[in-house]
Amino acid sequence: MNNGGPRKALILFGSPGSGKGTQAKLLKSCWSAPHVSTGDMLRAHIEAGDELGLEVRAVMQAGMLVPDDLVNRLVEKRLLQDDTQAGVVLDGYPRTLQQAETLGETLGRHGLAPVVIHLKVDYNEIISRLSGRRQCPLCGTLYNLTTNPPKVNGICDKDGTLLVTRPDDSEAVIRQRLEEYDHQTRPLLEYFRRAGVPFYEVDGIDDGPQAISTRICRLVTQGG
Ligand code: AMP
Repeated sequence: MNNGGPRKALILFGSPGSGKGTQAKLLKSCWSAPHVSTGDMLRAHIEAGDELGLEVRAVMQAGMLVPDDLVNRLVEKRLLQDDTQAGVVLDGYPRTLQQAETLGETLGRHGLAPVVIHLKVDYNEIISRLSGRRQCPLCGTLYNLTTNPPKVNGICDKDGTLLVTRPDDSEAVIRQRLEEYDHQTRPLLEYFRRAGVPFYEVDGIDDGPQAISTRICRLVTQGG
């Protein structure tokens, strides 16, 4: 993808907890395109306590989706930055039909070709993954208490910061997020197929994050 081929927008697609964020971070080893996560962007606004953050805080903490126009504007603005020249890795966007349609137009304007990678993960696995998820608030590294625990309980391996749990990773909110995924986001799989967007299925559990990343890197660098 960095070898003179068309510039691509890699859409990491999958339910909450399917490993999109983890894979986006691992992808940096083979592809230098920036990681654009709408969830991270929205959390940064909440952290900053600005107007947009105040607007979305309650909706996010309830596990619902924030309004389409708002995320569409965030992504459009982000894609105007120079670092998207090589392409972009989209994580958590699009999540609704309206977002997918807007993204199609935005990518067309920017000369970016979409490629979808669907990370498939079973629901029971997702609940256990998300409720065991911890994150370093400083460097963003993700841990899982069962599959990928930090060396010292509750502390980031990289910088010693106290790990945190996302407020929307409680079981009730996880179920709400999965419901939103089922009703609003999963139907996009059919939309991508119909629109003829190149589409790859990757088993998001079997081989562990590193092996999954190697597969995705192969798809990306060999023109996938
Ligand atoms: P994530 O970090 O991708 O799991 O997103 C966390 C939360 O941010 C979601 O549960 C939504 O409330 C909100 N969010 C993130 N991306 C979107 C999006 N594309 N559309 C609507 N809401 C979003």
